[in-house]
Parts: sequence; C-alpha cells; structure tokens
Amino acid sequence: MSLPLFPVTVVGSFPRPEALRRSLRRGVPDADVLEQARVEVLALQEAAGVDIVSEGEQGRDSFFSFIATKLGGVRLMSLAEMLDWVEDKAAFERLLAALDVPAFAIKNPVVEGKLSRKTTLAGDELAWAKSHTGKPVKVALPGPYLLSRSMWVKRLSADTYPTKESLGADVVAVLRAELIALRDAGADFVQFDEPVLSEVAFAGPHATHSFMCAALSEKASPESELEFAVELINQVVEGVEGIRTGLHVCRGNWSRDESVLLAGPYDALVPYFARMKVNQLVLEYATERAGSFAPLAALPDDKEIGLGLVNPRTSEIEPVEQLVARVQELLSYRPAESIFLNPDCGFGTFSDRPINTLDVAQKKLESLSLAAQTLRA
Ligand SMILES: [Zn+2]
Repeated sequence: MSLPLFPVTVVGSFPRPEALRRSLRRGVPDADVLEQARVEVLALQEAAGVDIVSEGEQGRDSFFSFIATKLGGVRLMSLAEMLDWVEDKAAFERLLAALDVPAFAIKNPVVEGKLSRKTTLAGDELAWAKSHTGKPVKVALPGPYLLSRSMWVKRLSADTYPTKESLGADVVAVLRAELIALRDAGADFVQFDEPVLSEVAFAGPHATHSFMCAALSEKASPESELEFAVELINQVVEGVEGIRTGLHVCRGNWSRDESVLLAGPYDALVPYFARMKVNQLVLEYATERAGSFAPLAALPDDKEIGLGLVNPRTSEIEPVEQLVARVQELLSYRPAESIFLNPDCGFGTFSDRPINTLDVAQKKLESLSLAAQTLRA
C-alpha cells in the first residue's frame, strides 16, 4: 500500500474503558464492550490523521501477557503469584516496590510445558481492523527475546526447556507462523516489542532493573544476550516477504515517575540493530533519557526509523513546531523516505495501569499528523 512521506503511525496500545477493564479482569472480554472500545479507538486514530492504524490492543490484558490464552504450555501468573516461584524472592519483591510496579495488576505468562500455537495471536485484531477501515493496519506482537526471557522461570520451566536456546527455538516457530499468517491475512506492518533490550544494554550484567524478566538474573553478558536477541528476531523474519516488519525498543512505559525508568543512548544497541533483518526500528526519542540521534547514522541506509516524537506518559501536548524541528534534526542522519512518525510507546501498556487518557492520546496524535503535513509541504 502506498504511503505518504513521513507516515504517522502508533506503537500499539490505547487505554481501555473501565467496563472493558472489568471484563478483562474476568478473563475473556465481553464482545459488545470490546466492540465499542475498538470502534472508539479506531475512530480516534482516523480523526487524528494517523496513516497506519492499529486495533489498539483493546482485548489484551497487556502487550505480551495476552498470549497466555493463545498458547499451549503457558500459565498466566500475576507478579505477586510469581513471587512464590522466583529464585530470589526478596530481591524480586524489592524490585517491584522500587520500580513502582503494581504486582497484583500485572500478569506474566510462564512456560510450564511444551509451547504450541493453539490459535492465532493477533489475527482477530487484524481481521476486526481490516473490516472497519480502509487504512493500512499495524499489529504489534511481543518479541522473541522478551518471550524467551520473561516466560522462563526455572522451577516451572526447566523440565521442559533446560536452556534459553531450547525455549527460544519454539518461540521463534510460534512467532514466524504468526507473522506469515498475519501477512496472508493482509497486515501491512508487524512490530515486535522488545522492551527488555534496553535493560540488557544499559543496566549491566547483573542488573535486574526490569520486573518483566524474573529470569534476567540468570542472564549472561549483555553482548551474548543481545547476540541471542539478534539471532531470534532474524529467525522469525528472515525470508518473509510482502510485509513491513519492525522492532520496538523503549525504556519503560509502566509509570509516569521518570526516575524509575531506564536511561541510556542507543549507541550500545545500534551494532545489533544494524544486523536485525527487520525493515524498521521503532525507537523512543520524546524522552531525554534516549539521548541523541547521532548513533543512528551508523545504521544501514535501508533501515527505516519509527521516530518516537510524543511522550505517551505526559499530559502536555507537544507543539507541532517542536516536532517538525526534531524531524529536521534527524534528517541530517537519515533519509526522509525512511522516517515514520509515532509516539514513543503505547498509551495503554497494562490494562489496569493506563498511562494516559484517550483525549490526550488523540491530541498528541493530531500534533504528530500536523507535523507530518508541515514536513510534506
Ligand atoms: Zn514501548
């Protein structure tokens, strides 16, 4: 599908209305409530001038835990329940408190048997969106490194998967099958979410700054972990033509308290990004914690940048001129044809901990599309 210069898109989630959140807490969301929420989120994006829209992840409990009901061999546990199973309970508990993480509200899928794809992960979201809009549709999926690392809890998973590589192989098979199915069903853009890569790159070998990976305490050097992430994503996307693929990295999007979120420039990640066979890197840049554009100059010319320009965690609407100036700054490092405009991350993330309102989300997206129009002119 042909796109304008500086296409405006979203990273994924939107806040869910209270009725939907209540319904999600009970498990499978009520169909009418879900339908209404989806209609509202799609209308919001179309009104704001978004070029590549998403279904808004309305039926998901979070950007990654929703897969628990779609996969065999996986059990969904709240972080509070996981406390009973992780190796170092006291450390995990301190971590949750220090990072302002609501342990009962956040759920994590845990592998306790052979992984299998019982049903499509996001095909229902895509089908819904395709039947309600003529615009290109983007679908986000949890990335293979996130899943391989966050679903593995030694005491529950090691019998079936003694090593991270053995689980990684089955995660790759699931995601590759899903990517091909989404392409065949007409998805325009599939984005893999890898929020833990920043943790790996910035927090050092023994850090457990991310609550999303109880298993990270088991991790090897940052270099070998990032190498593992490259291998996994390449095994998922290599040779799958006819669809735009992306990889999204951010520095935490669960709290408005900036002090608990990760900081660090992309320098350490760029050599790995350069070897990832995805079309686009969807990166945070609305926060100063992400550093400058300079490291992006080292990426191959054919890599697109999904440029994070508005902060999903604030209420202030970024002025159009400011966004235009940021893109102009990036133009000294990357060609115009390769730049997409998006928020830094989703506006919803965890259903019970939305980080913004639909009203603010719409205004920020409007600012993005006005910036795109200015730049095109
Ligand atoms: Zn993100």
